[in-house]
Amino acid sequence: IATLYIVPTPIGNLDDISARAIEVLTRVAWIAAEDTRHSARLLQHFSISTRTLSLHDHNEDKRTTMLCHRLKGGESVALISDAGTPLISDPGFVLVRKCREEGIPVIALPGPCAAITALSASGLPTDRFIFEGFLPVKTQARDNQLTLLKSRTCTSVFYEAPRRIVNTVKDIARVLGERHIVIAKELTKTFETYVSGTPSKVLAYFEEDPAHQKGEFVVMVSPAQIDVTAIPPQALSLLSSLCEHMP
Ligand code: SAM
Repeated sequence: IATLYIVPTPIGNLDDISARAIEVLTRVAWIAAEDTRHSARLLQHFSISTRTLSLHDHNEDKRTTMLCHRLKGGESVALISDAGTPLISDPGFVLVRKCREEGIPVIALPGPCAAITALSASGLPTDRFIFEGFLPVKTQARDNQLTLLKSRTCTSVFYEAPRRIVNTVKDIARVLGERHIVIAKELTKTFETYVSGTPSKVLAYFEEDPAHQKGEFVVMVSPAQIDVTAIPPQALSLLSSLCEHMP
């Protein structure tokens, strides 16, 4: 029985590929890629000539059956997506779950991921965070999702498409008011930028130049501040009598 490798690829800067990723991609029998034409450029750049086949949202079930068959027959497979870590807002979950069910070994290589890259440089708390993937497209569903952030006491991380970034910031302003946010744009690329502040300050950045709305974005929302007035009065009085007995 062979191994399924989960192999992260660069999110912009090709130098971010790891030596181990190149070694695995060169050695496996097959590379399952989200878009084989897109990945051909990357593979060519690193002189990797391994056979590729497609695995995307629309054929994942069919490909899973076929790939599990090959893995059991001793052919190893590397899964890659267009950029970053497979399965993180990218295809692969159906395949990995099936491999786990069937006892096929799965090994993930660490590597580029836009959410983790953005969070680590954002200046927002990193001790606890929630990754939300993409916000729903429909207004009601978006509002419901954003409403949850009103009482969320950890950092929230979202992916967003360029055509929706301005509306997303407006939605955050409407639902959450002046909550501090950070947008990481074009990570690892030439025009990498972090924009932070209130939603209205971030909106001003997007509106001052249409070029600012182009690119790839990670949206991060700071934790809700605990409101002391929301603590029940009984709890507060208990706390103050406890304090009296402290040394
Ligand atoms: N699997 C990928 C990962 O590990 O980051 C994410 C794939 S998801 C389909 C694509 C989204 O990731 C983009 O819409 C954007 O929100 C974010 N993203 C990817 N590359 C980025 C970059 N270089 N800078 C900022 N955001 C990026």
